[in-house]
Amino acid sequence: MTADSKELVFEGLGVSPGIAVGPAHLSEAGAPTVPEYKVRKSDIGAEQVRFKSAVDRSGRQLRRLRDRARAMHGASGEDLSNLLDAYLKMLTGSRLVRGVERRIVETRINAESAVQAEISEIAHGFTELSDPYMAARADDIREAGARLIRNLTKAPFRAFSTLPQGSIVLAEEFSPADAALMDPRQVAGFATVLGGPEGHTAIMARSLGIPAVLGATGLTLGARDAGNVIIDGVGGRVIVNPTAATLREYEKRRLALRRETRRFARLRDLPAVTRDETEIQLSANVDLPQETALAMRHGAAGVGLLRSEYMFMNRETPPNEEEQYQSLCEIVAGMEGRPVTIRTLDVGGEKLAYSLGEQLGDAVNPALGLRAIRLSLKYPKLLEDQLAAILRVGAIGPIRILLPMIATTGEVRRVREAINVVARRLKRRRVPIADPLPPLGIMIEVPGAALAADALAQVSDFFAIGTNDLTMYTLAIDRADEQVAHLYNPLHPAVLRLIRFTAQAALRARIPFSLCGEIAGDPRYTALLLGLGVRDLSMSAGSLPKVKQRVRNLELTAATGRAQAIMEQADIGRIATLLDDFNALA
Ligand code: PEP
Ligand code: MG
Repeated sequence: MTADSKELVFEGLGVSPGIAVGPAHLSEAGAPTVPEYKVRKSDIGAEQVRFKSAVDRSGRQLRRLRDRARAMHGASGEDLSNLLDAYLKMLTGSRLVRGVERRIVETRINAESAVQAEISEIAHGFTELSDPYMAARADDIREAGARLIRNLTKAPFRAFSTLPQGSIVLAEEFSPADAALMDPRQVAGFATVLGGPEGHTAIMARSLGIPAVLGATGLTLGARDAGNVIIDGVGGRVIVNPTAATLREYEKRRLALRRETRRFARLRDLPAVTRDETEIQLSANVDLPQETALAMRHGAAGVGLLRSEYMFMNRETPPNEEEQYQSLCEIVAGMEGRPVTIRTLDVGGEKLAYSLGEQLGDAVNPALGLRAIRLSLKYPKLLEDQLAAILRVGAIGPIRILLPMIATTGEVRRVREAINVVARRLKRRRVPIADPLPPLGIMIEVPGAALAADALAQVSDFFAIGTNDLTMYTLAIDRADEQVAHLYNPLHPAVLRLIRFTAQAALRARIPFSLCGEIAGDPRYTALLLGLGVRDLSMSAGSLPKVKQRVRNLELTAATGRAQAIMEQADIGRIATLLDDFNALA
């Protein structure tokens, strides 16, 4: 954090390009709403457990924030980590915690009211001392208490709809489900302290076209008195209370970006062919139904990846078959006859869906736990409802079914059996469904699946290579953790070899394959991916024009030669240089 009079600059990761300027809204600011009720005598134990887990969760959050602050250079990082340490102390065996526990037992009130009452009493005691230092401690205790209450109420959905148009939202962390609730007319940009560039919150920001910066250490505490804020989603910078000169500079940059977008728009109806006339399929990844229009505007060949998770987010219970069908109809109809690849549910890991909280449970390690296809196979009704909705929508437009996180051939066989059962049931009821049954493909995003690609190709109709998870699991680097974001690198030779291995297995088995991880939408990688044999890329709709432009400038034979040279290298730095040099010339 650097200060220039009142202007504050926070450095972070630019995860969604664009520049936004607007009034700041601190998501966690203000006193949370506190529900008040009596607890039955027999429920006192459970209430204490609920309070204990809120204390643990608050502790985990604070430790993460403190570790980020410690990694910052200079005095402000030290001040911040000391402050966060002070909050942490308030949660460990403190008067606050003991007081709340006592109130739950003695007065039989719910934990939130007990926290509220205890904070008021402690803070009142501090302010009575009329010492400015102690008055500041009263604010600290309120802050720690507000965090406890937020974690107790676990308010599942954030309300952005009441914000003034054009707000910039600042928060410690947004889940992908939070981001899915943001309407770009309301939320002009957002920034958080936690989160990495390949996580689903970042992907959601790109899908919505909302400029965003994640991993901006110190932001929420430092920006408490923020008025206006600039989000620089390209440079990864958050500027709080910008000066007039800074505002002028960013306005210039914003206009330059807009000019570039207009230039790209002219590519819409031009074909995606290389200079040596190989046609490349460019499709859109769709995370929310409203993206379909953008995909069409940018000339997408179809939807290469429909992440169906959006249907399960921000609601109390999972959607039934009919609701899923209606929602899918909107997307398939919106694509006007272009193929839509619908992926079955991929929650778990960092992608949590409130409506499935019970089924997901508490995983020891969520990224390796009950995620994606594993969850669907464990809860057959969940899978069958989704398959039924997908088969039905197949009657109104061309679709394919895609399975996430596949590791074994057995998983694919089980889903194929389920498809047959569901199809028979629907036919018996004379419900129109896709005829013939849609192709069934799998994501290759687990390293073991890539290495077993030849076996998996025998039971699958197509592959979609998911480099986001493939990189994460191959390198053992959490894609959503800003602390290791600098180590996350799809150019690692291990990742590239797995991509090539998968591509070769698909070519041998004569099944189509595409690539739909975030690198598909980054023109830096286009030459390499085409050189490795990929002819079908799916990306967030906003990236289509710039990738198309790259494809049209490329000589495929040259790209293939460069990819071969890259594959002979073992060093990431050398690989990056070979790629960037090629990009600079061609
Ligand atoms: C991937 O892992 O590359 C992918 C496309 O799936 P998701 O980002 O939804 O995990
Ligand atoms: Mg994935």
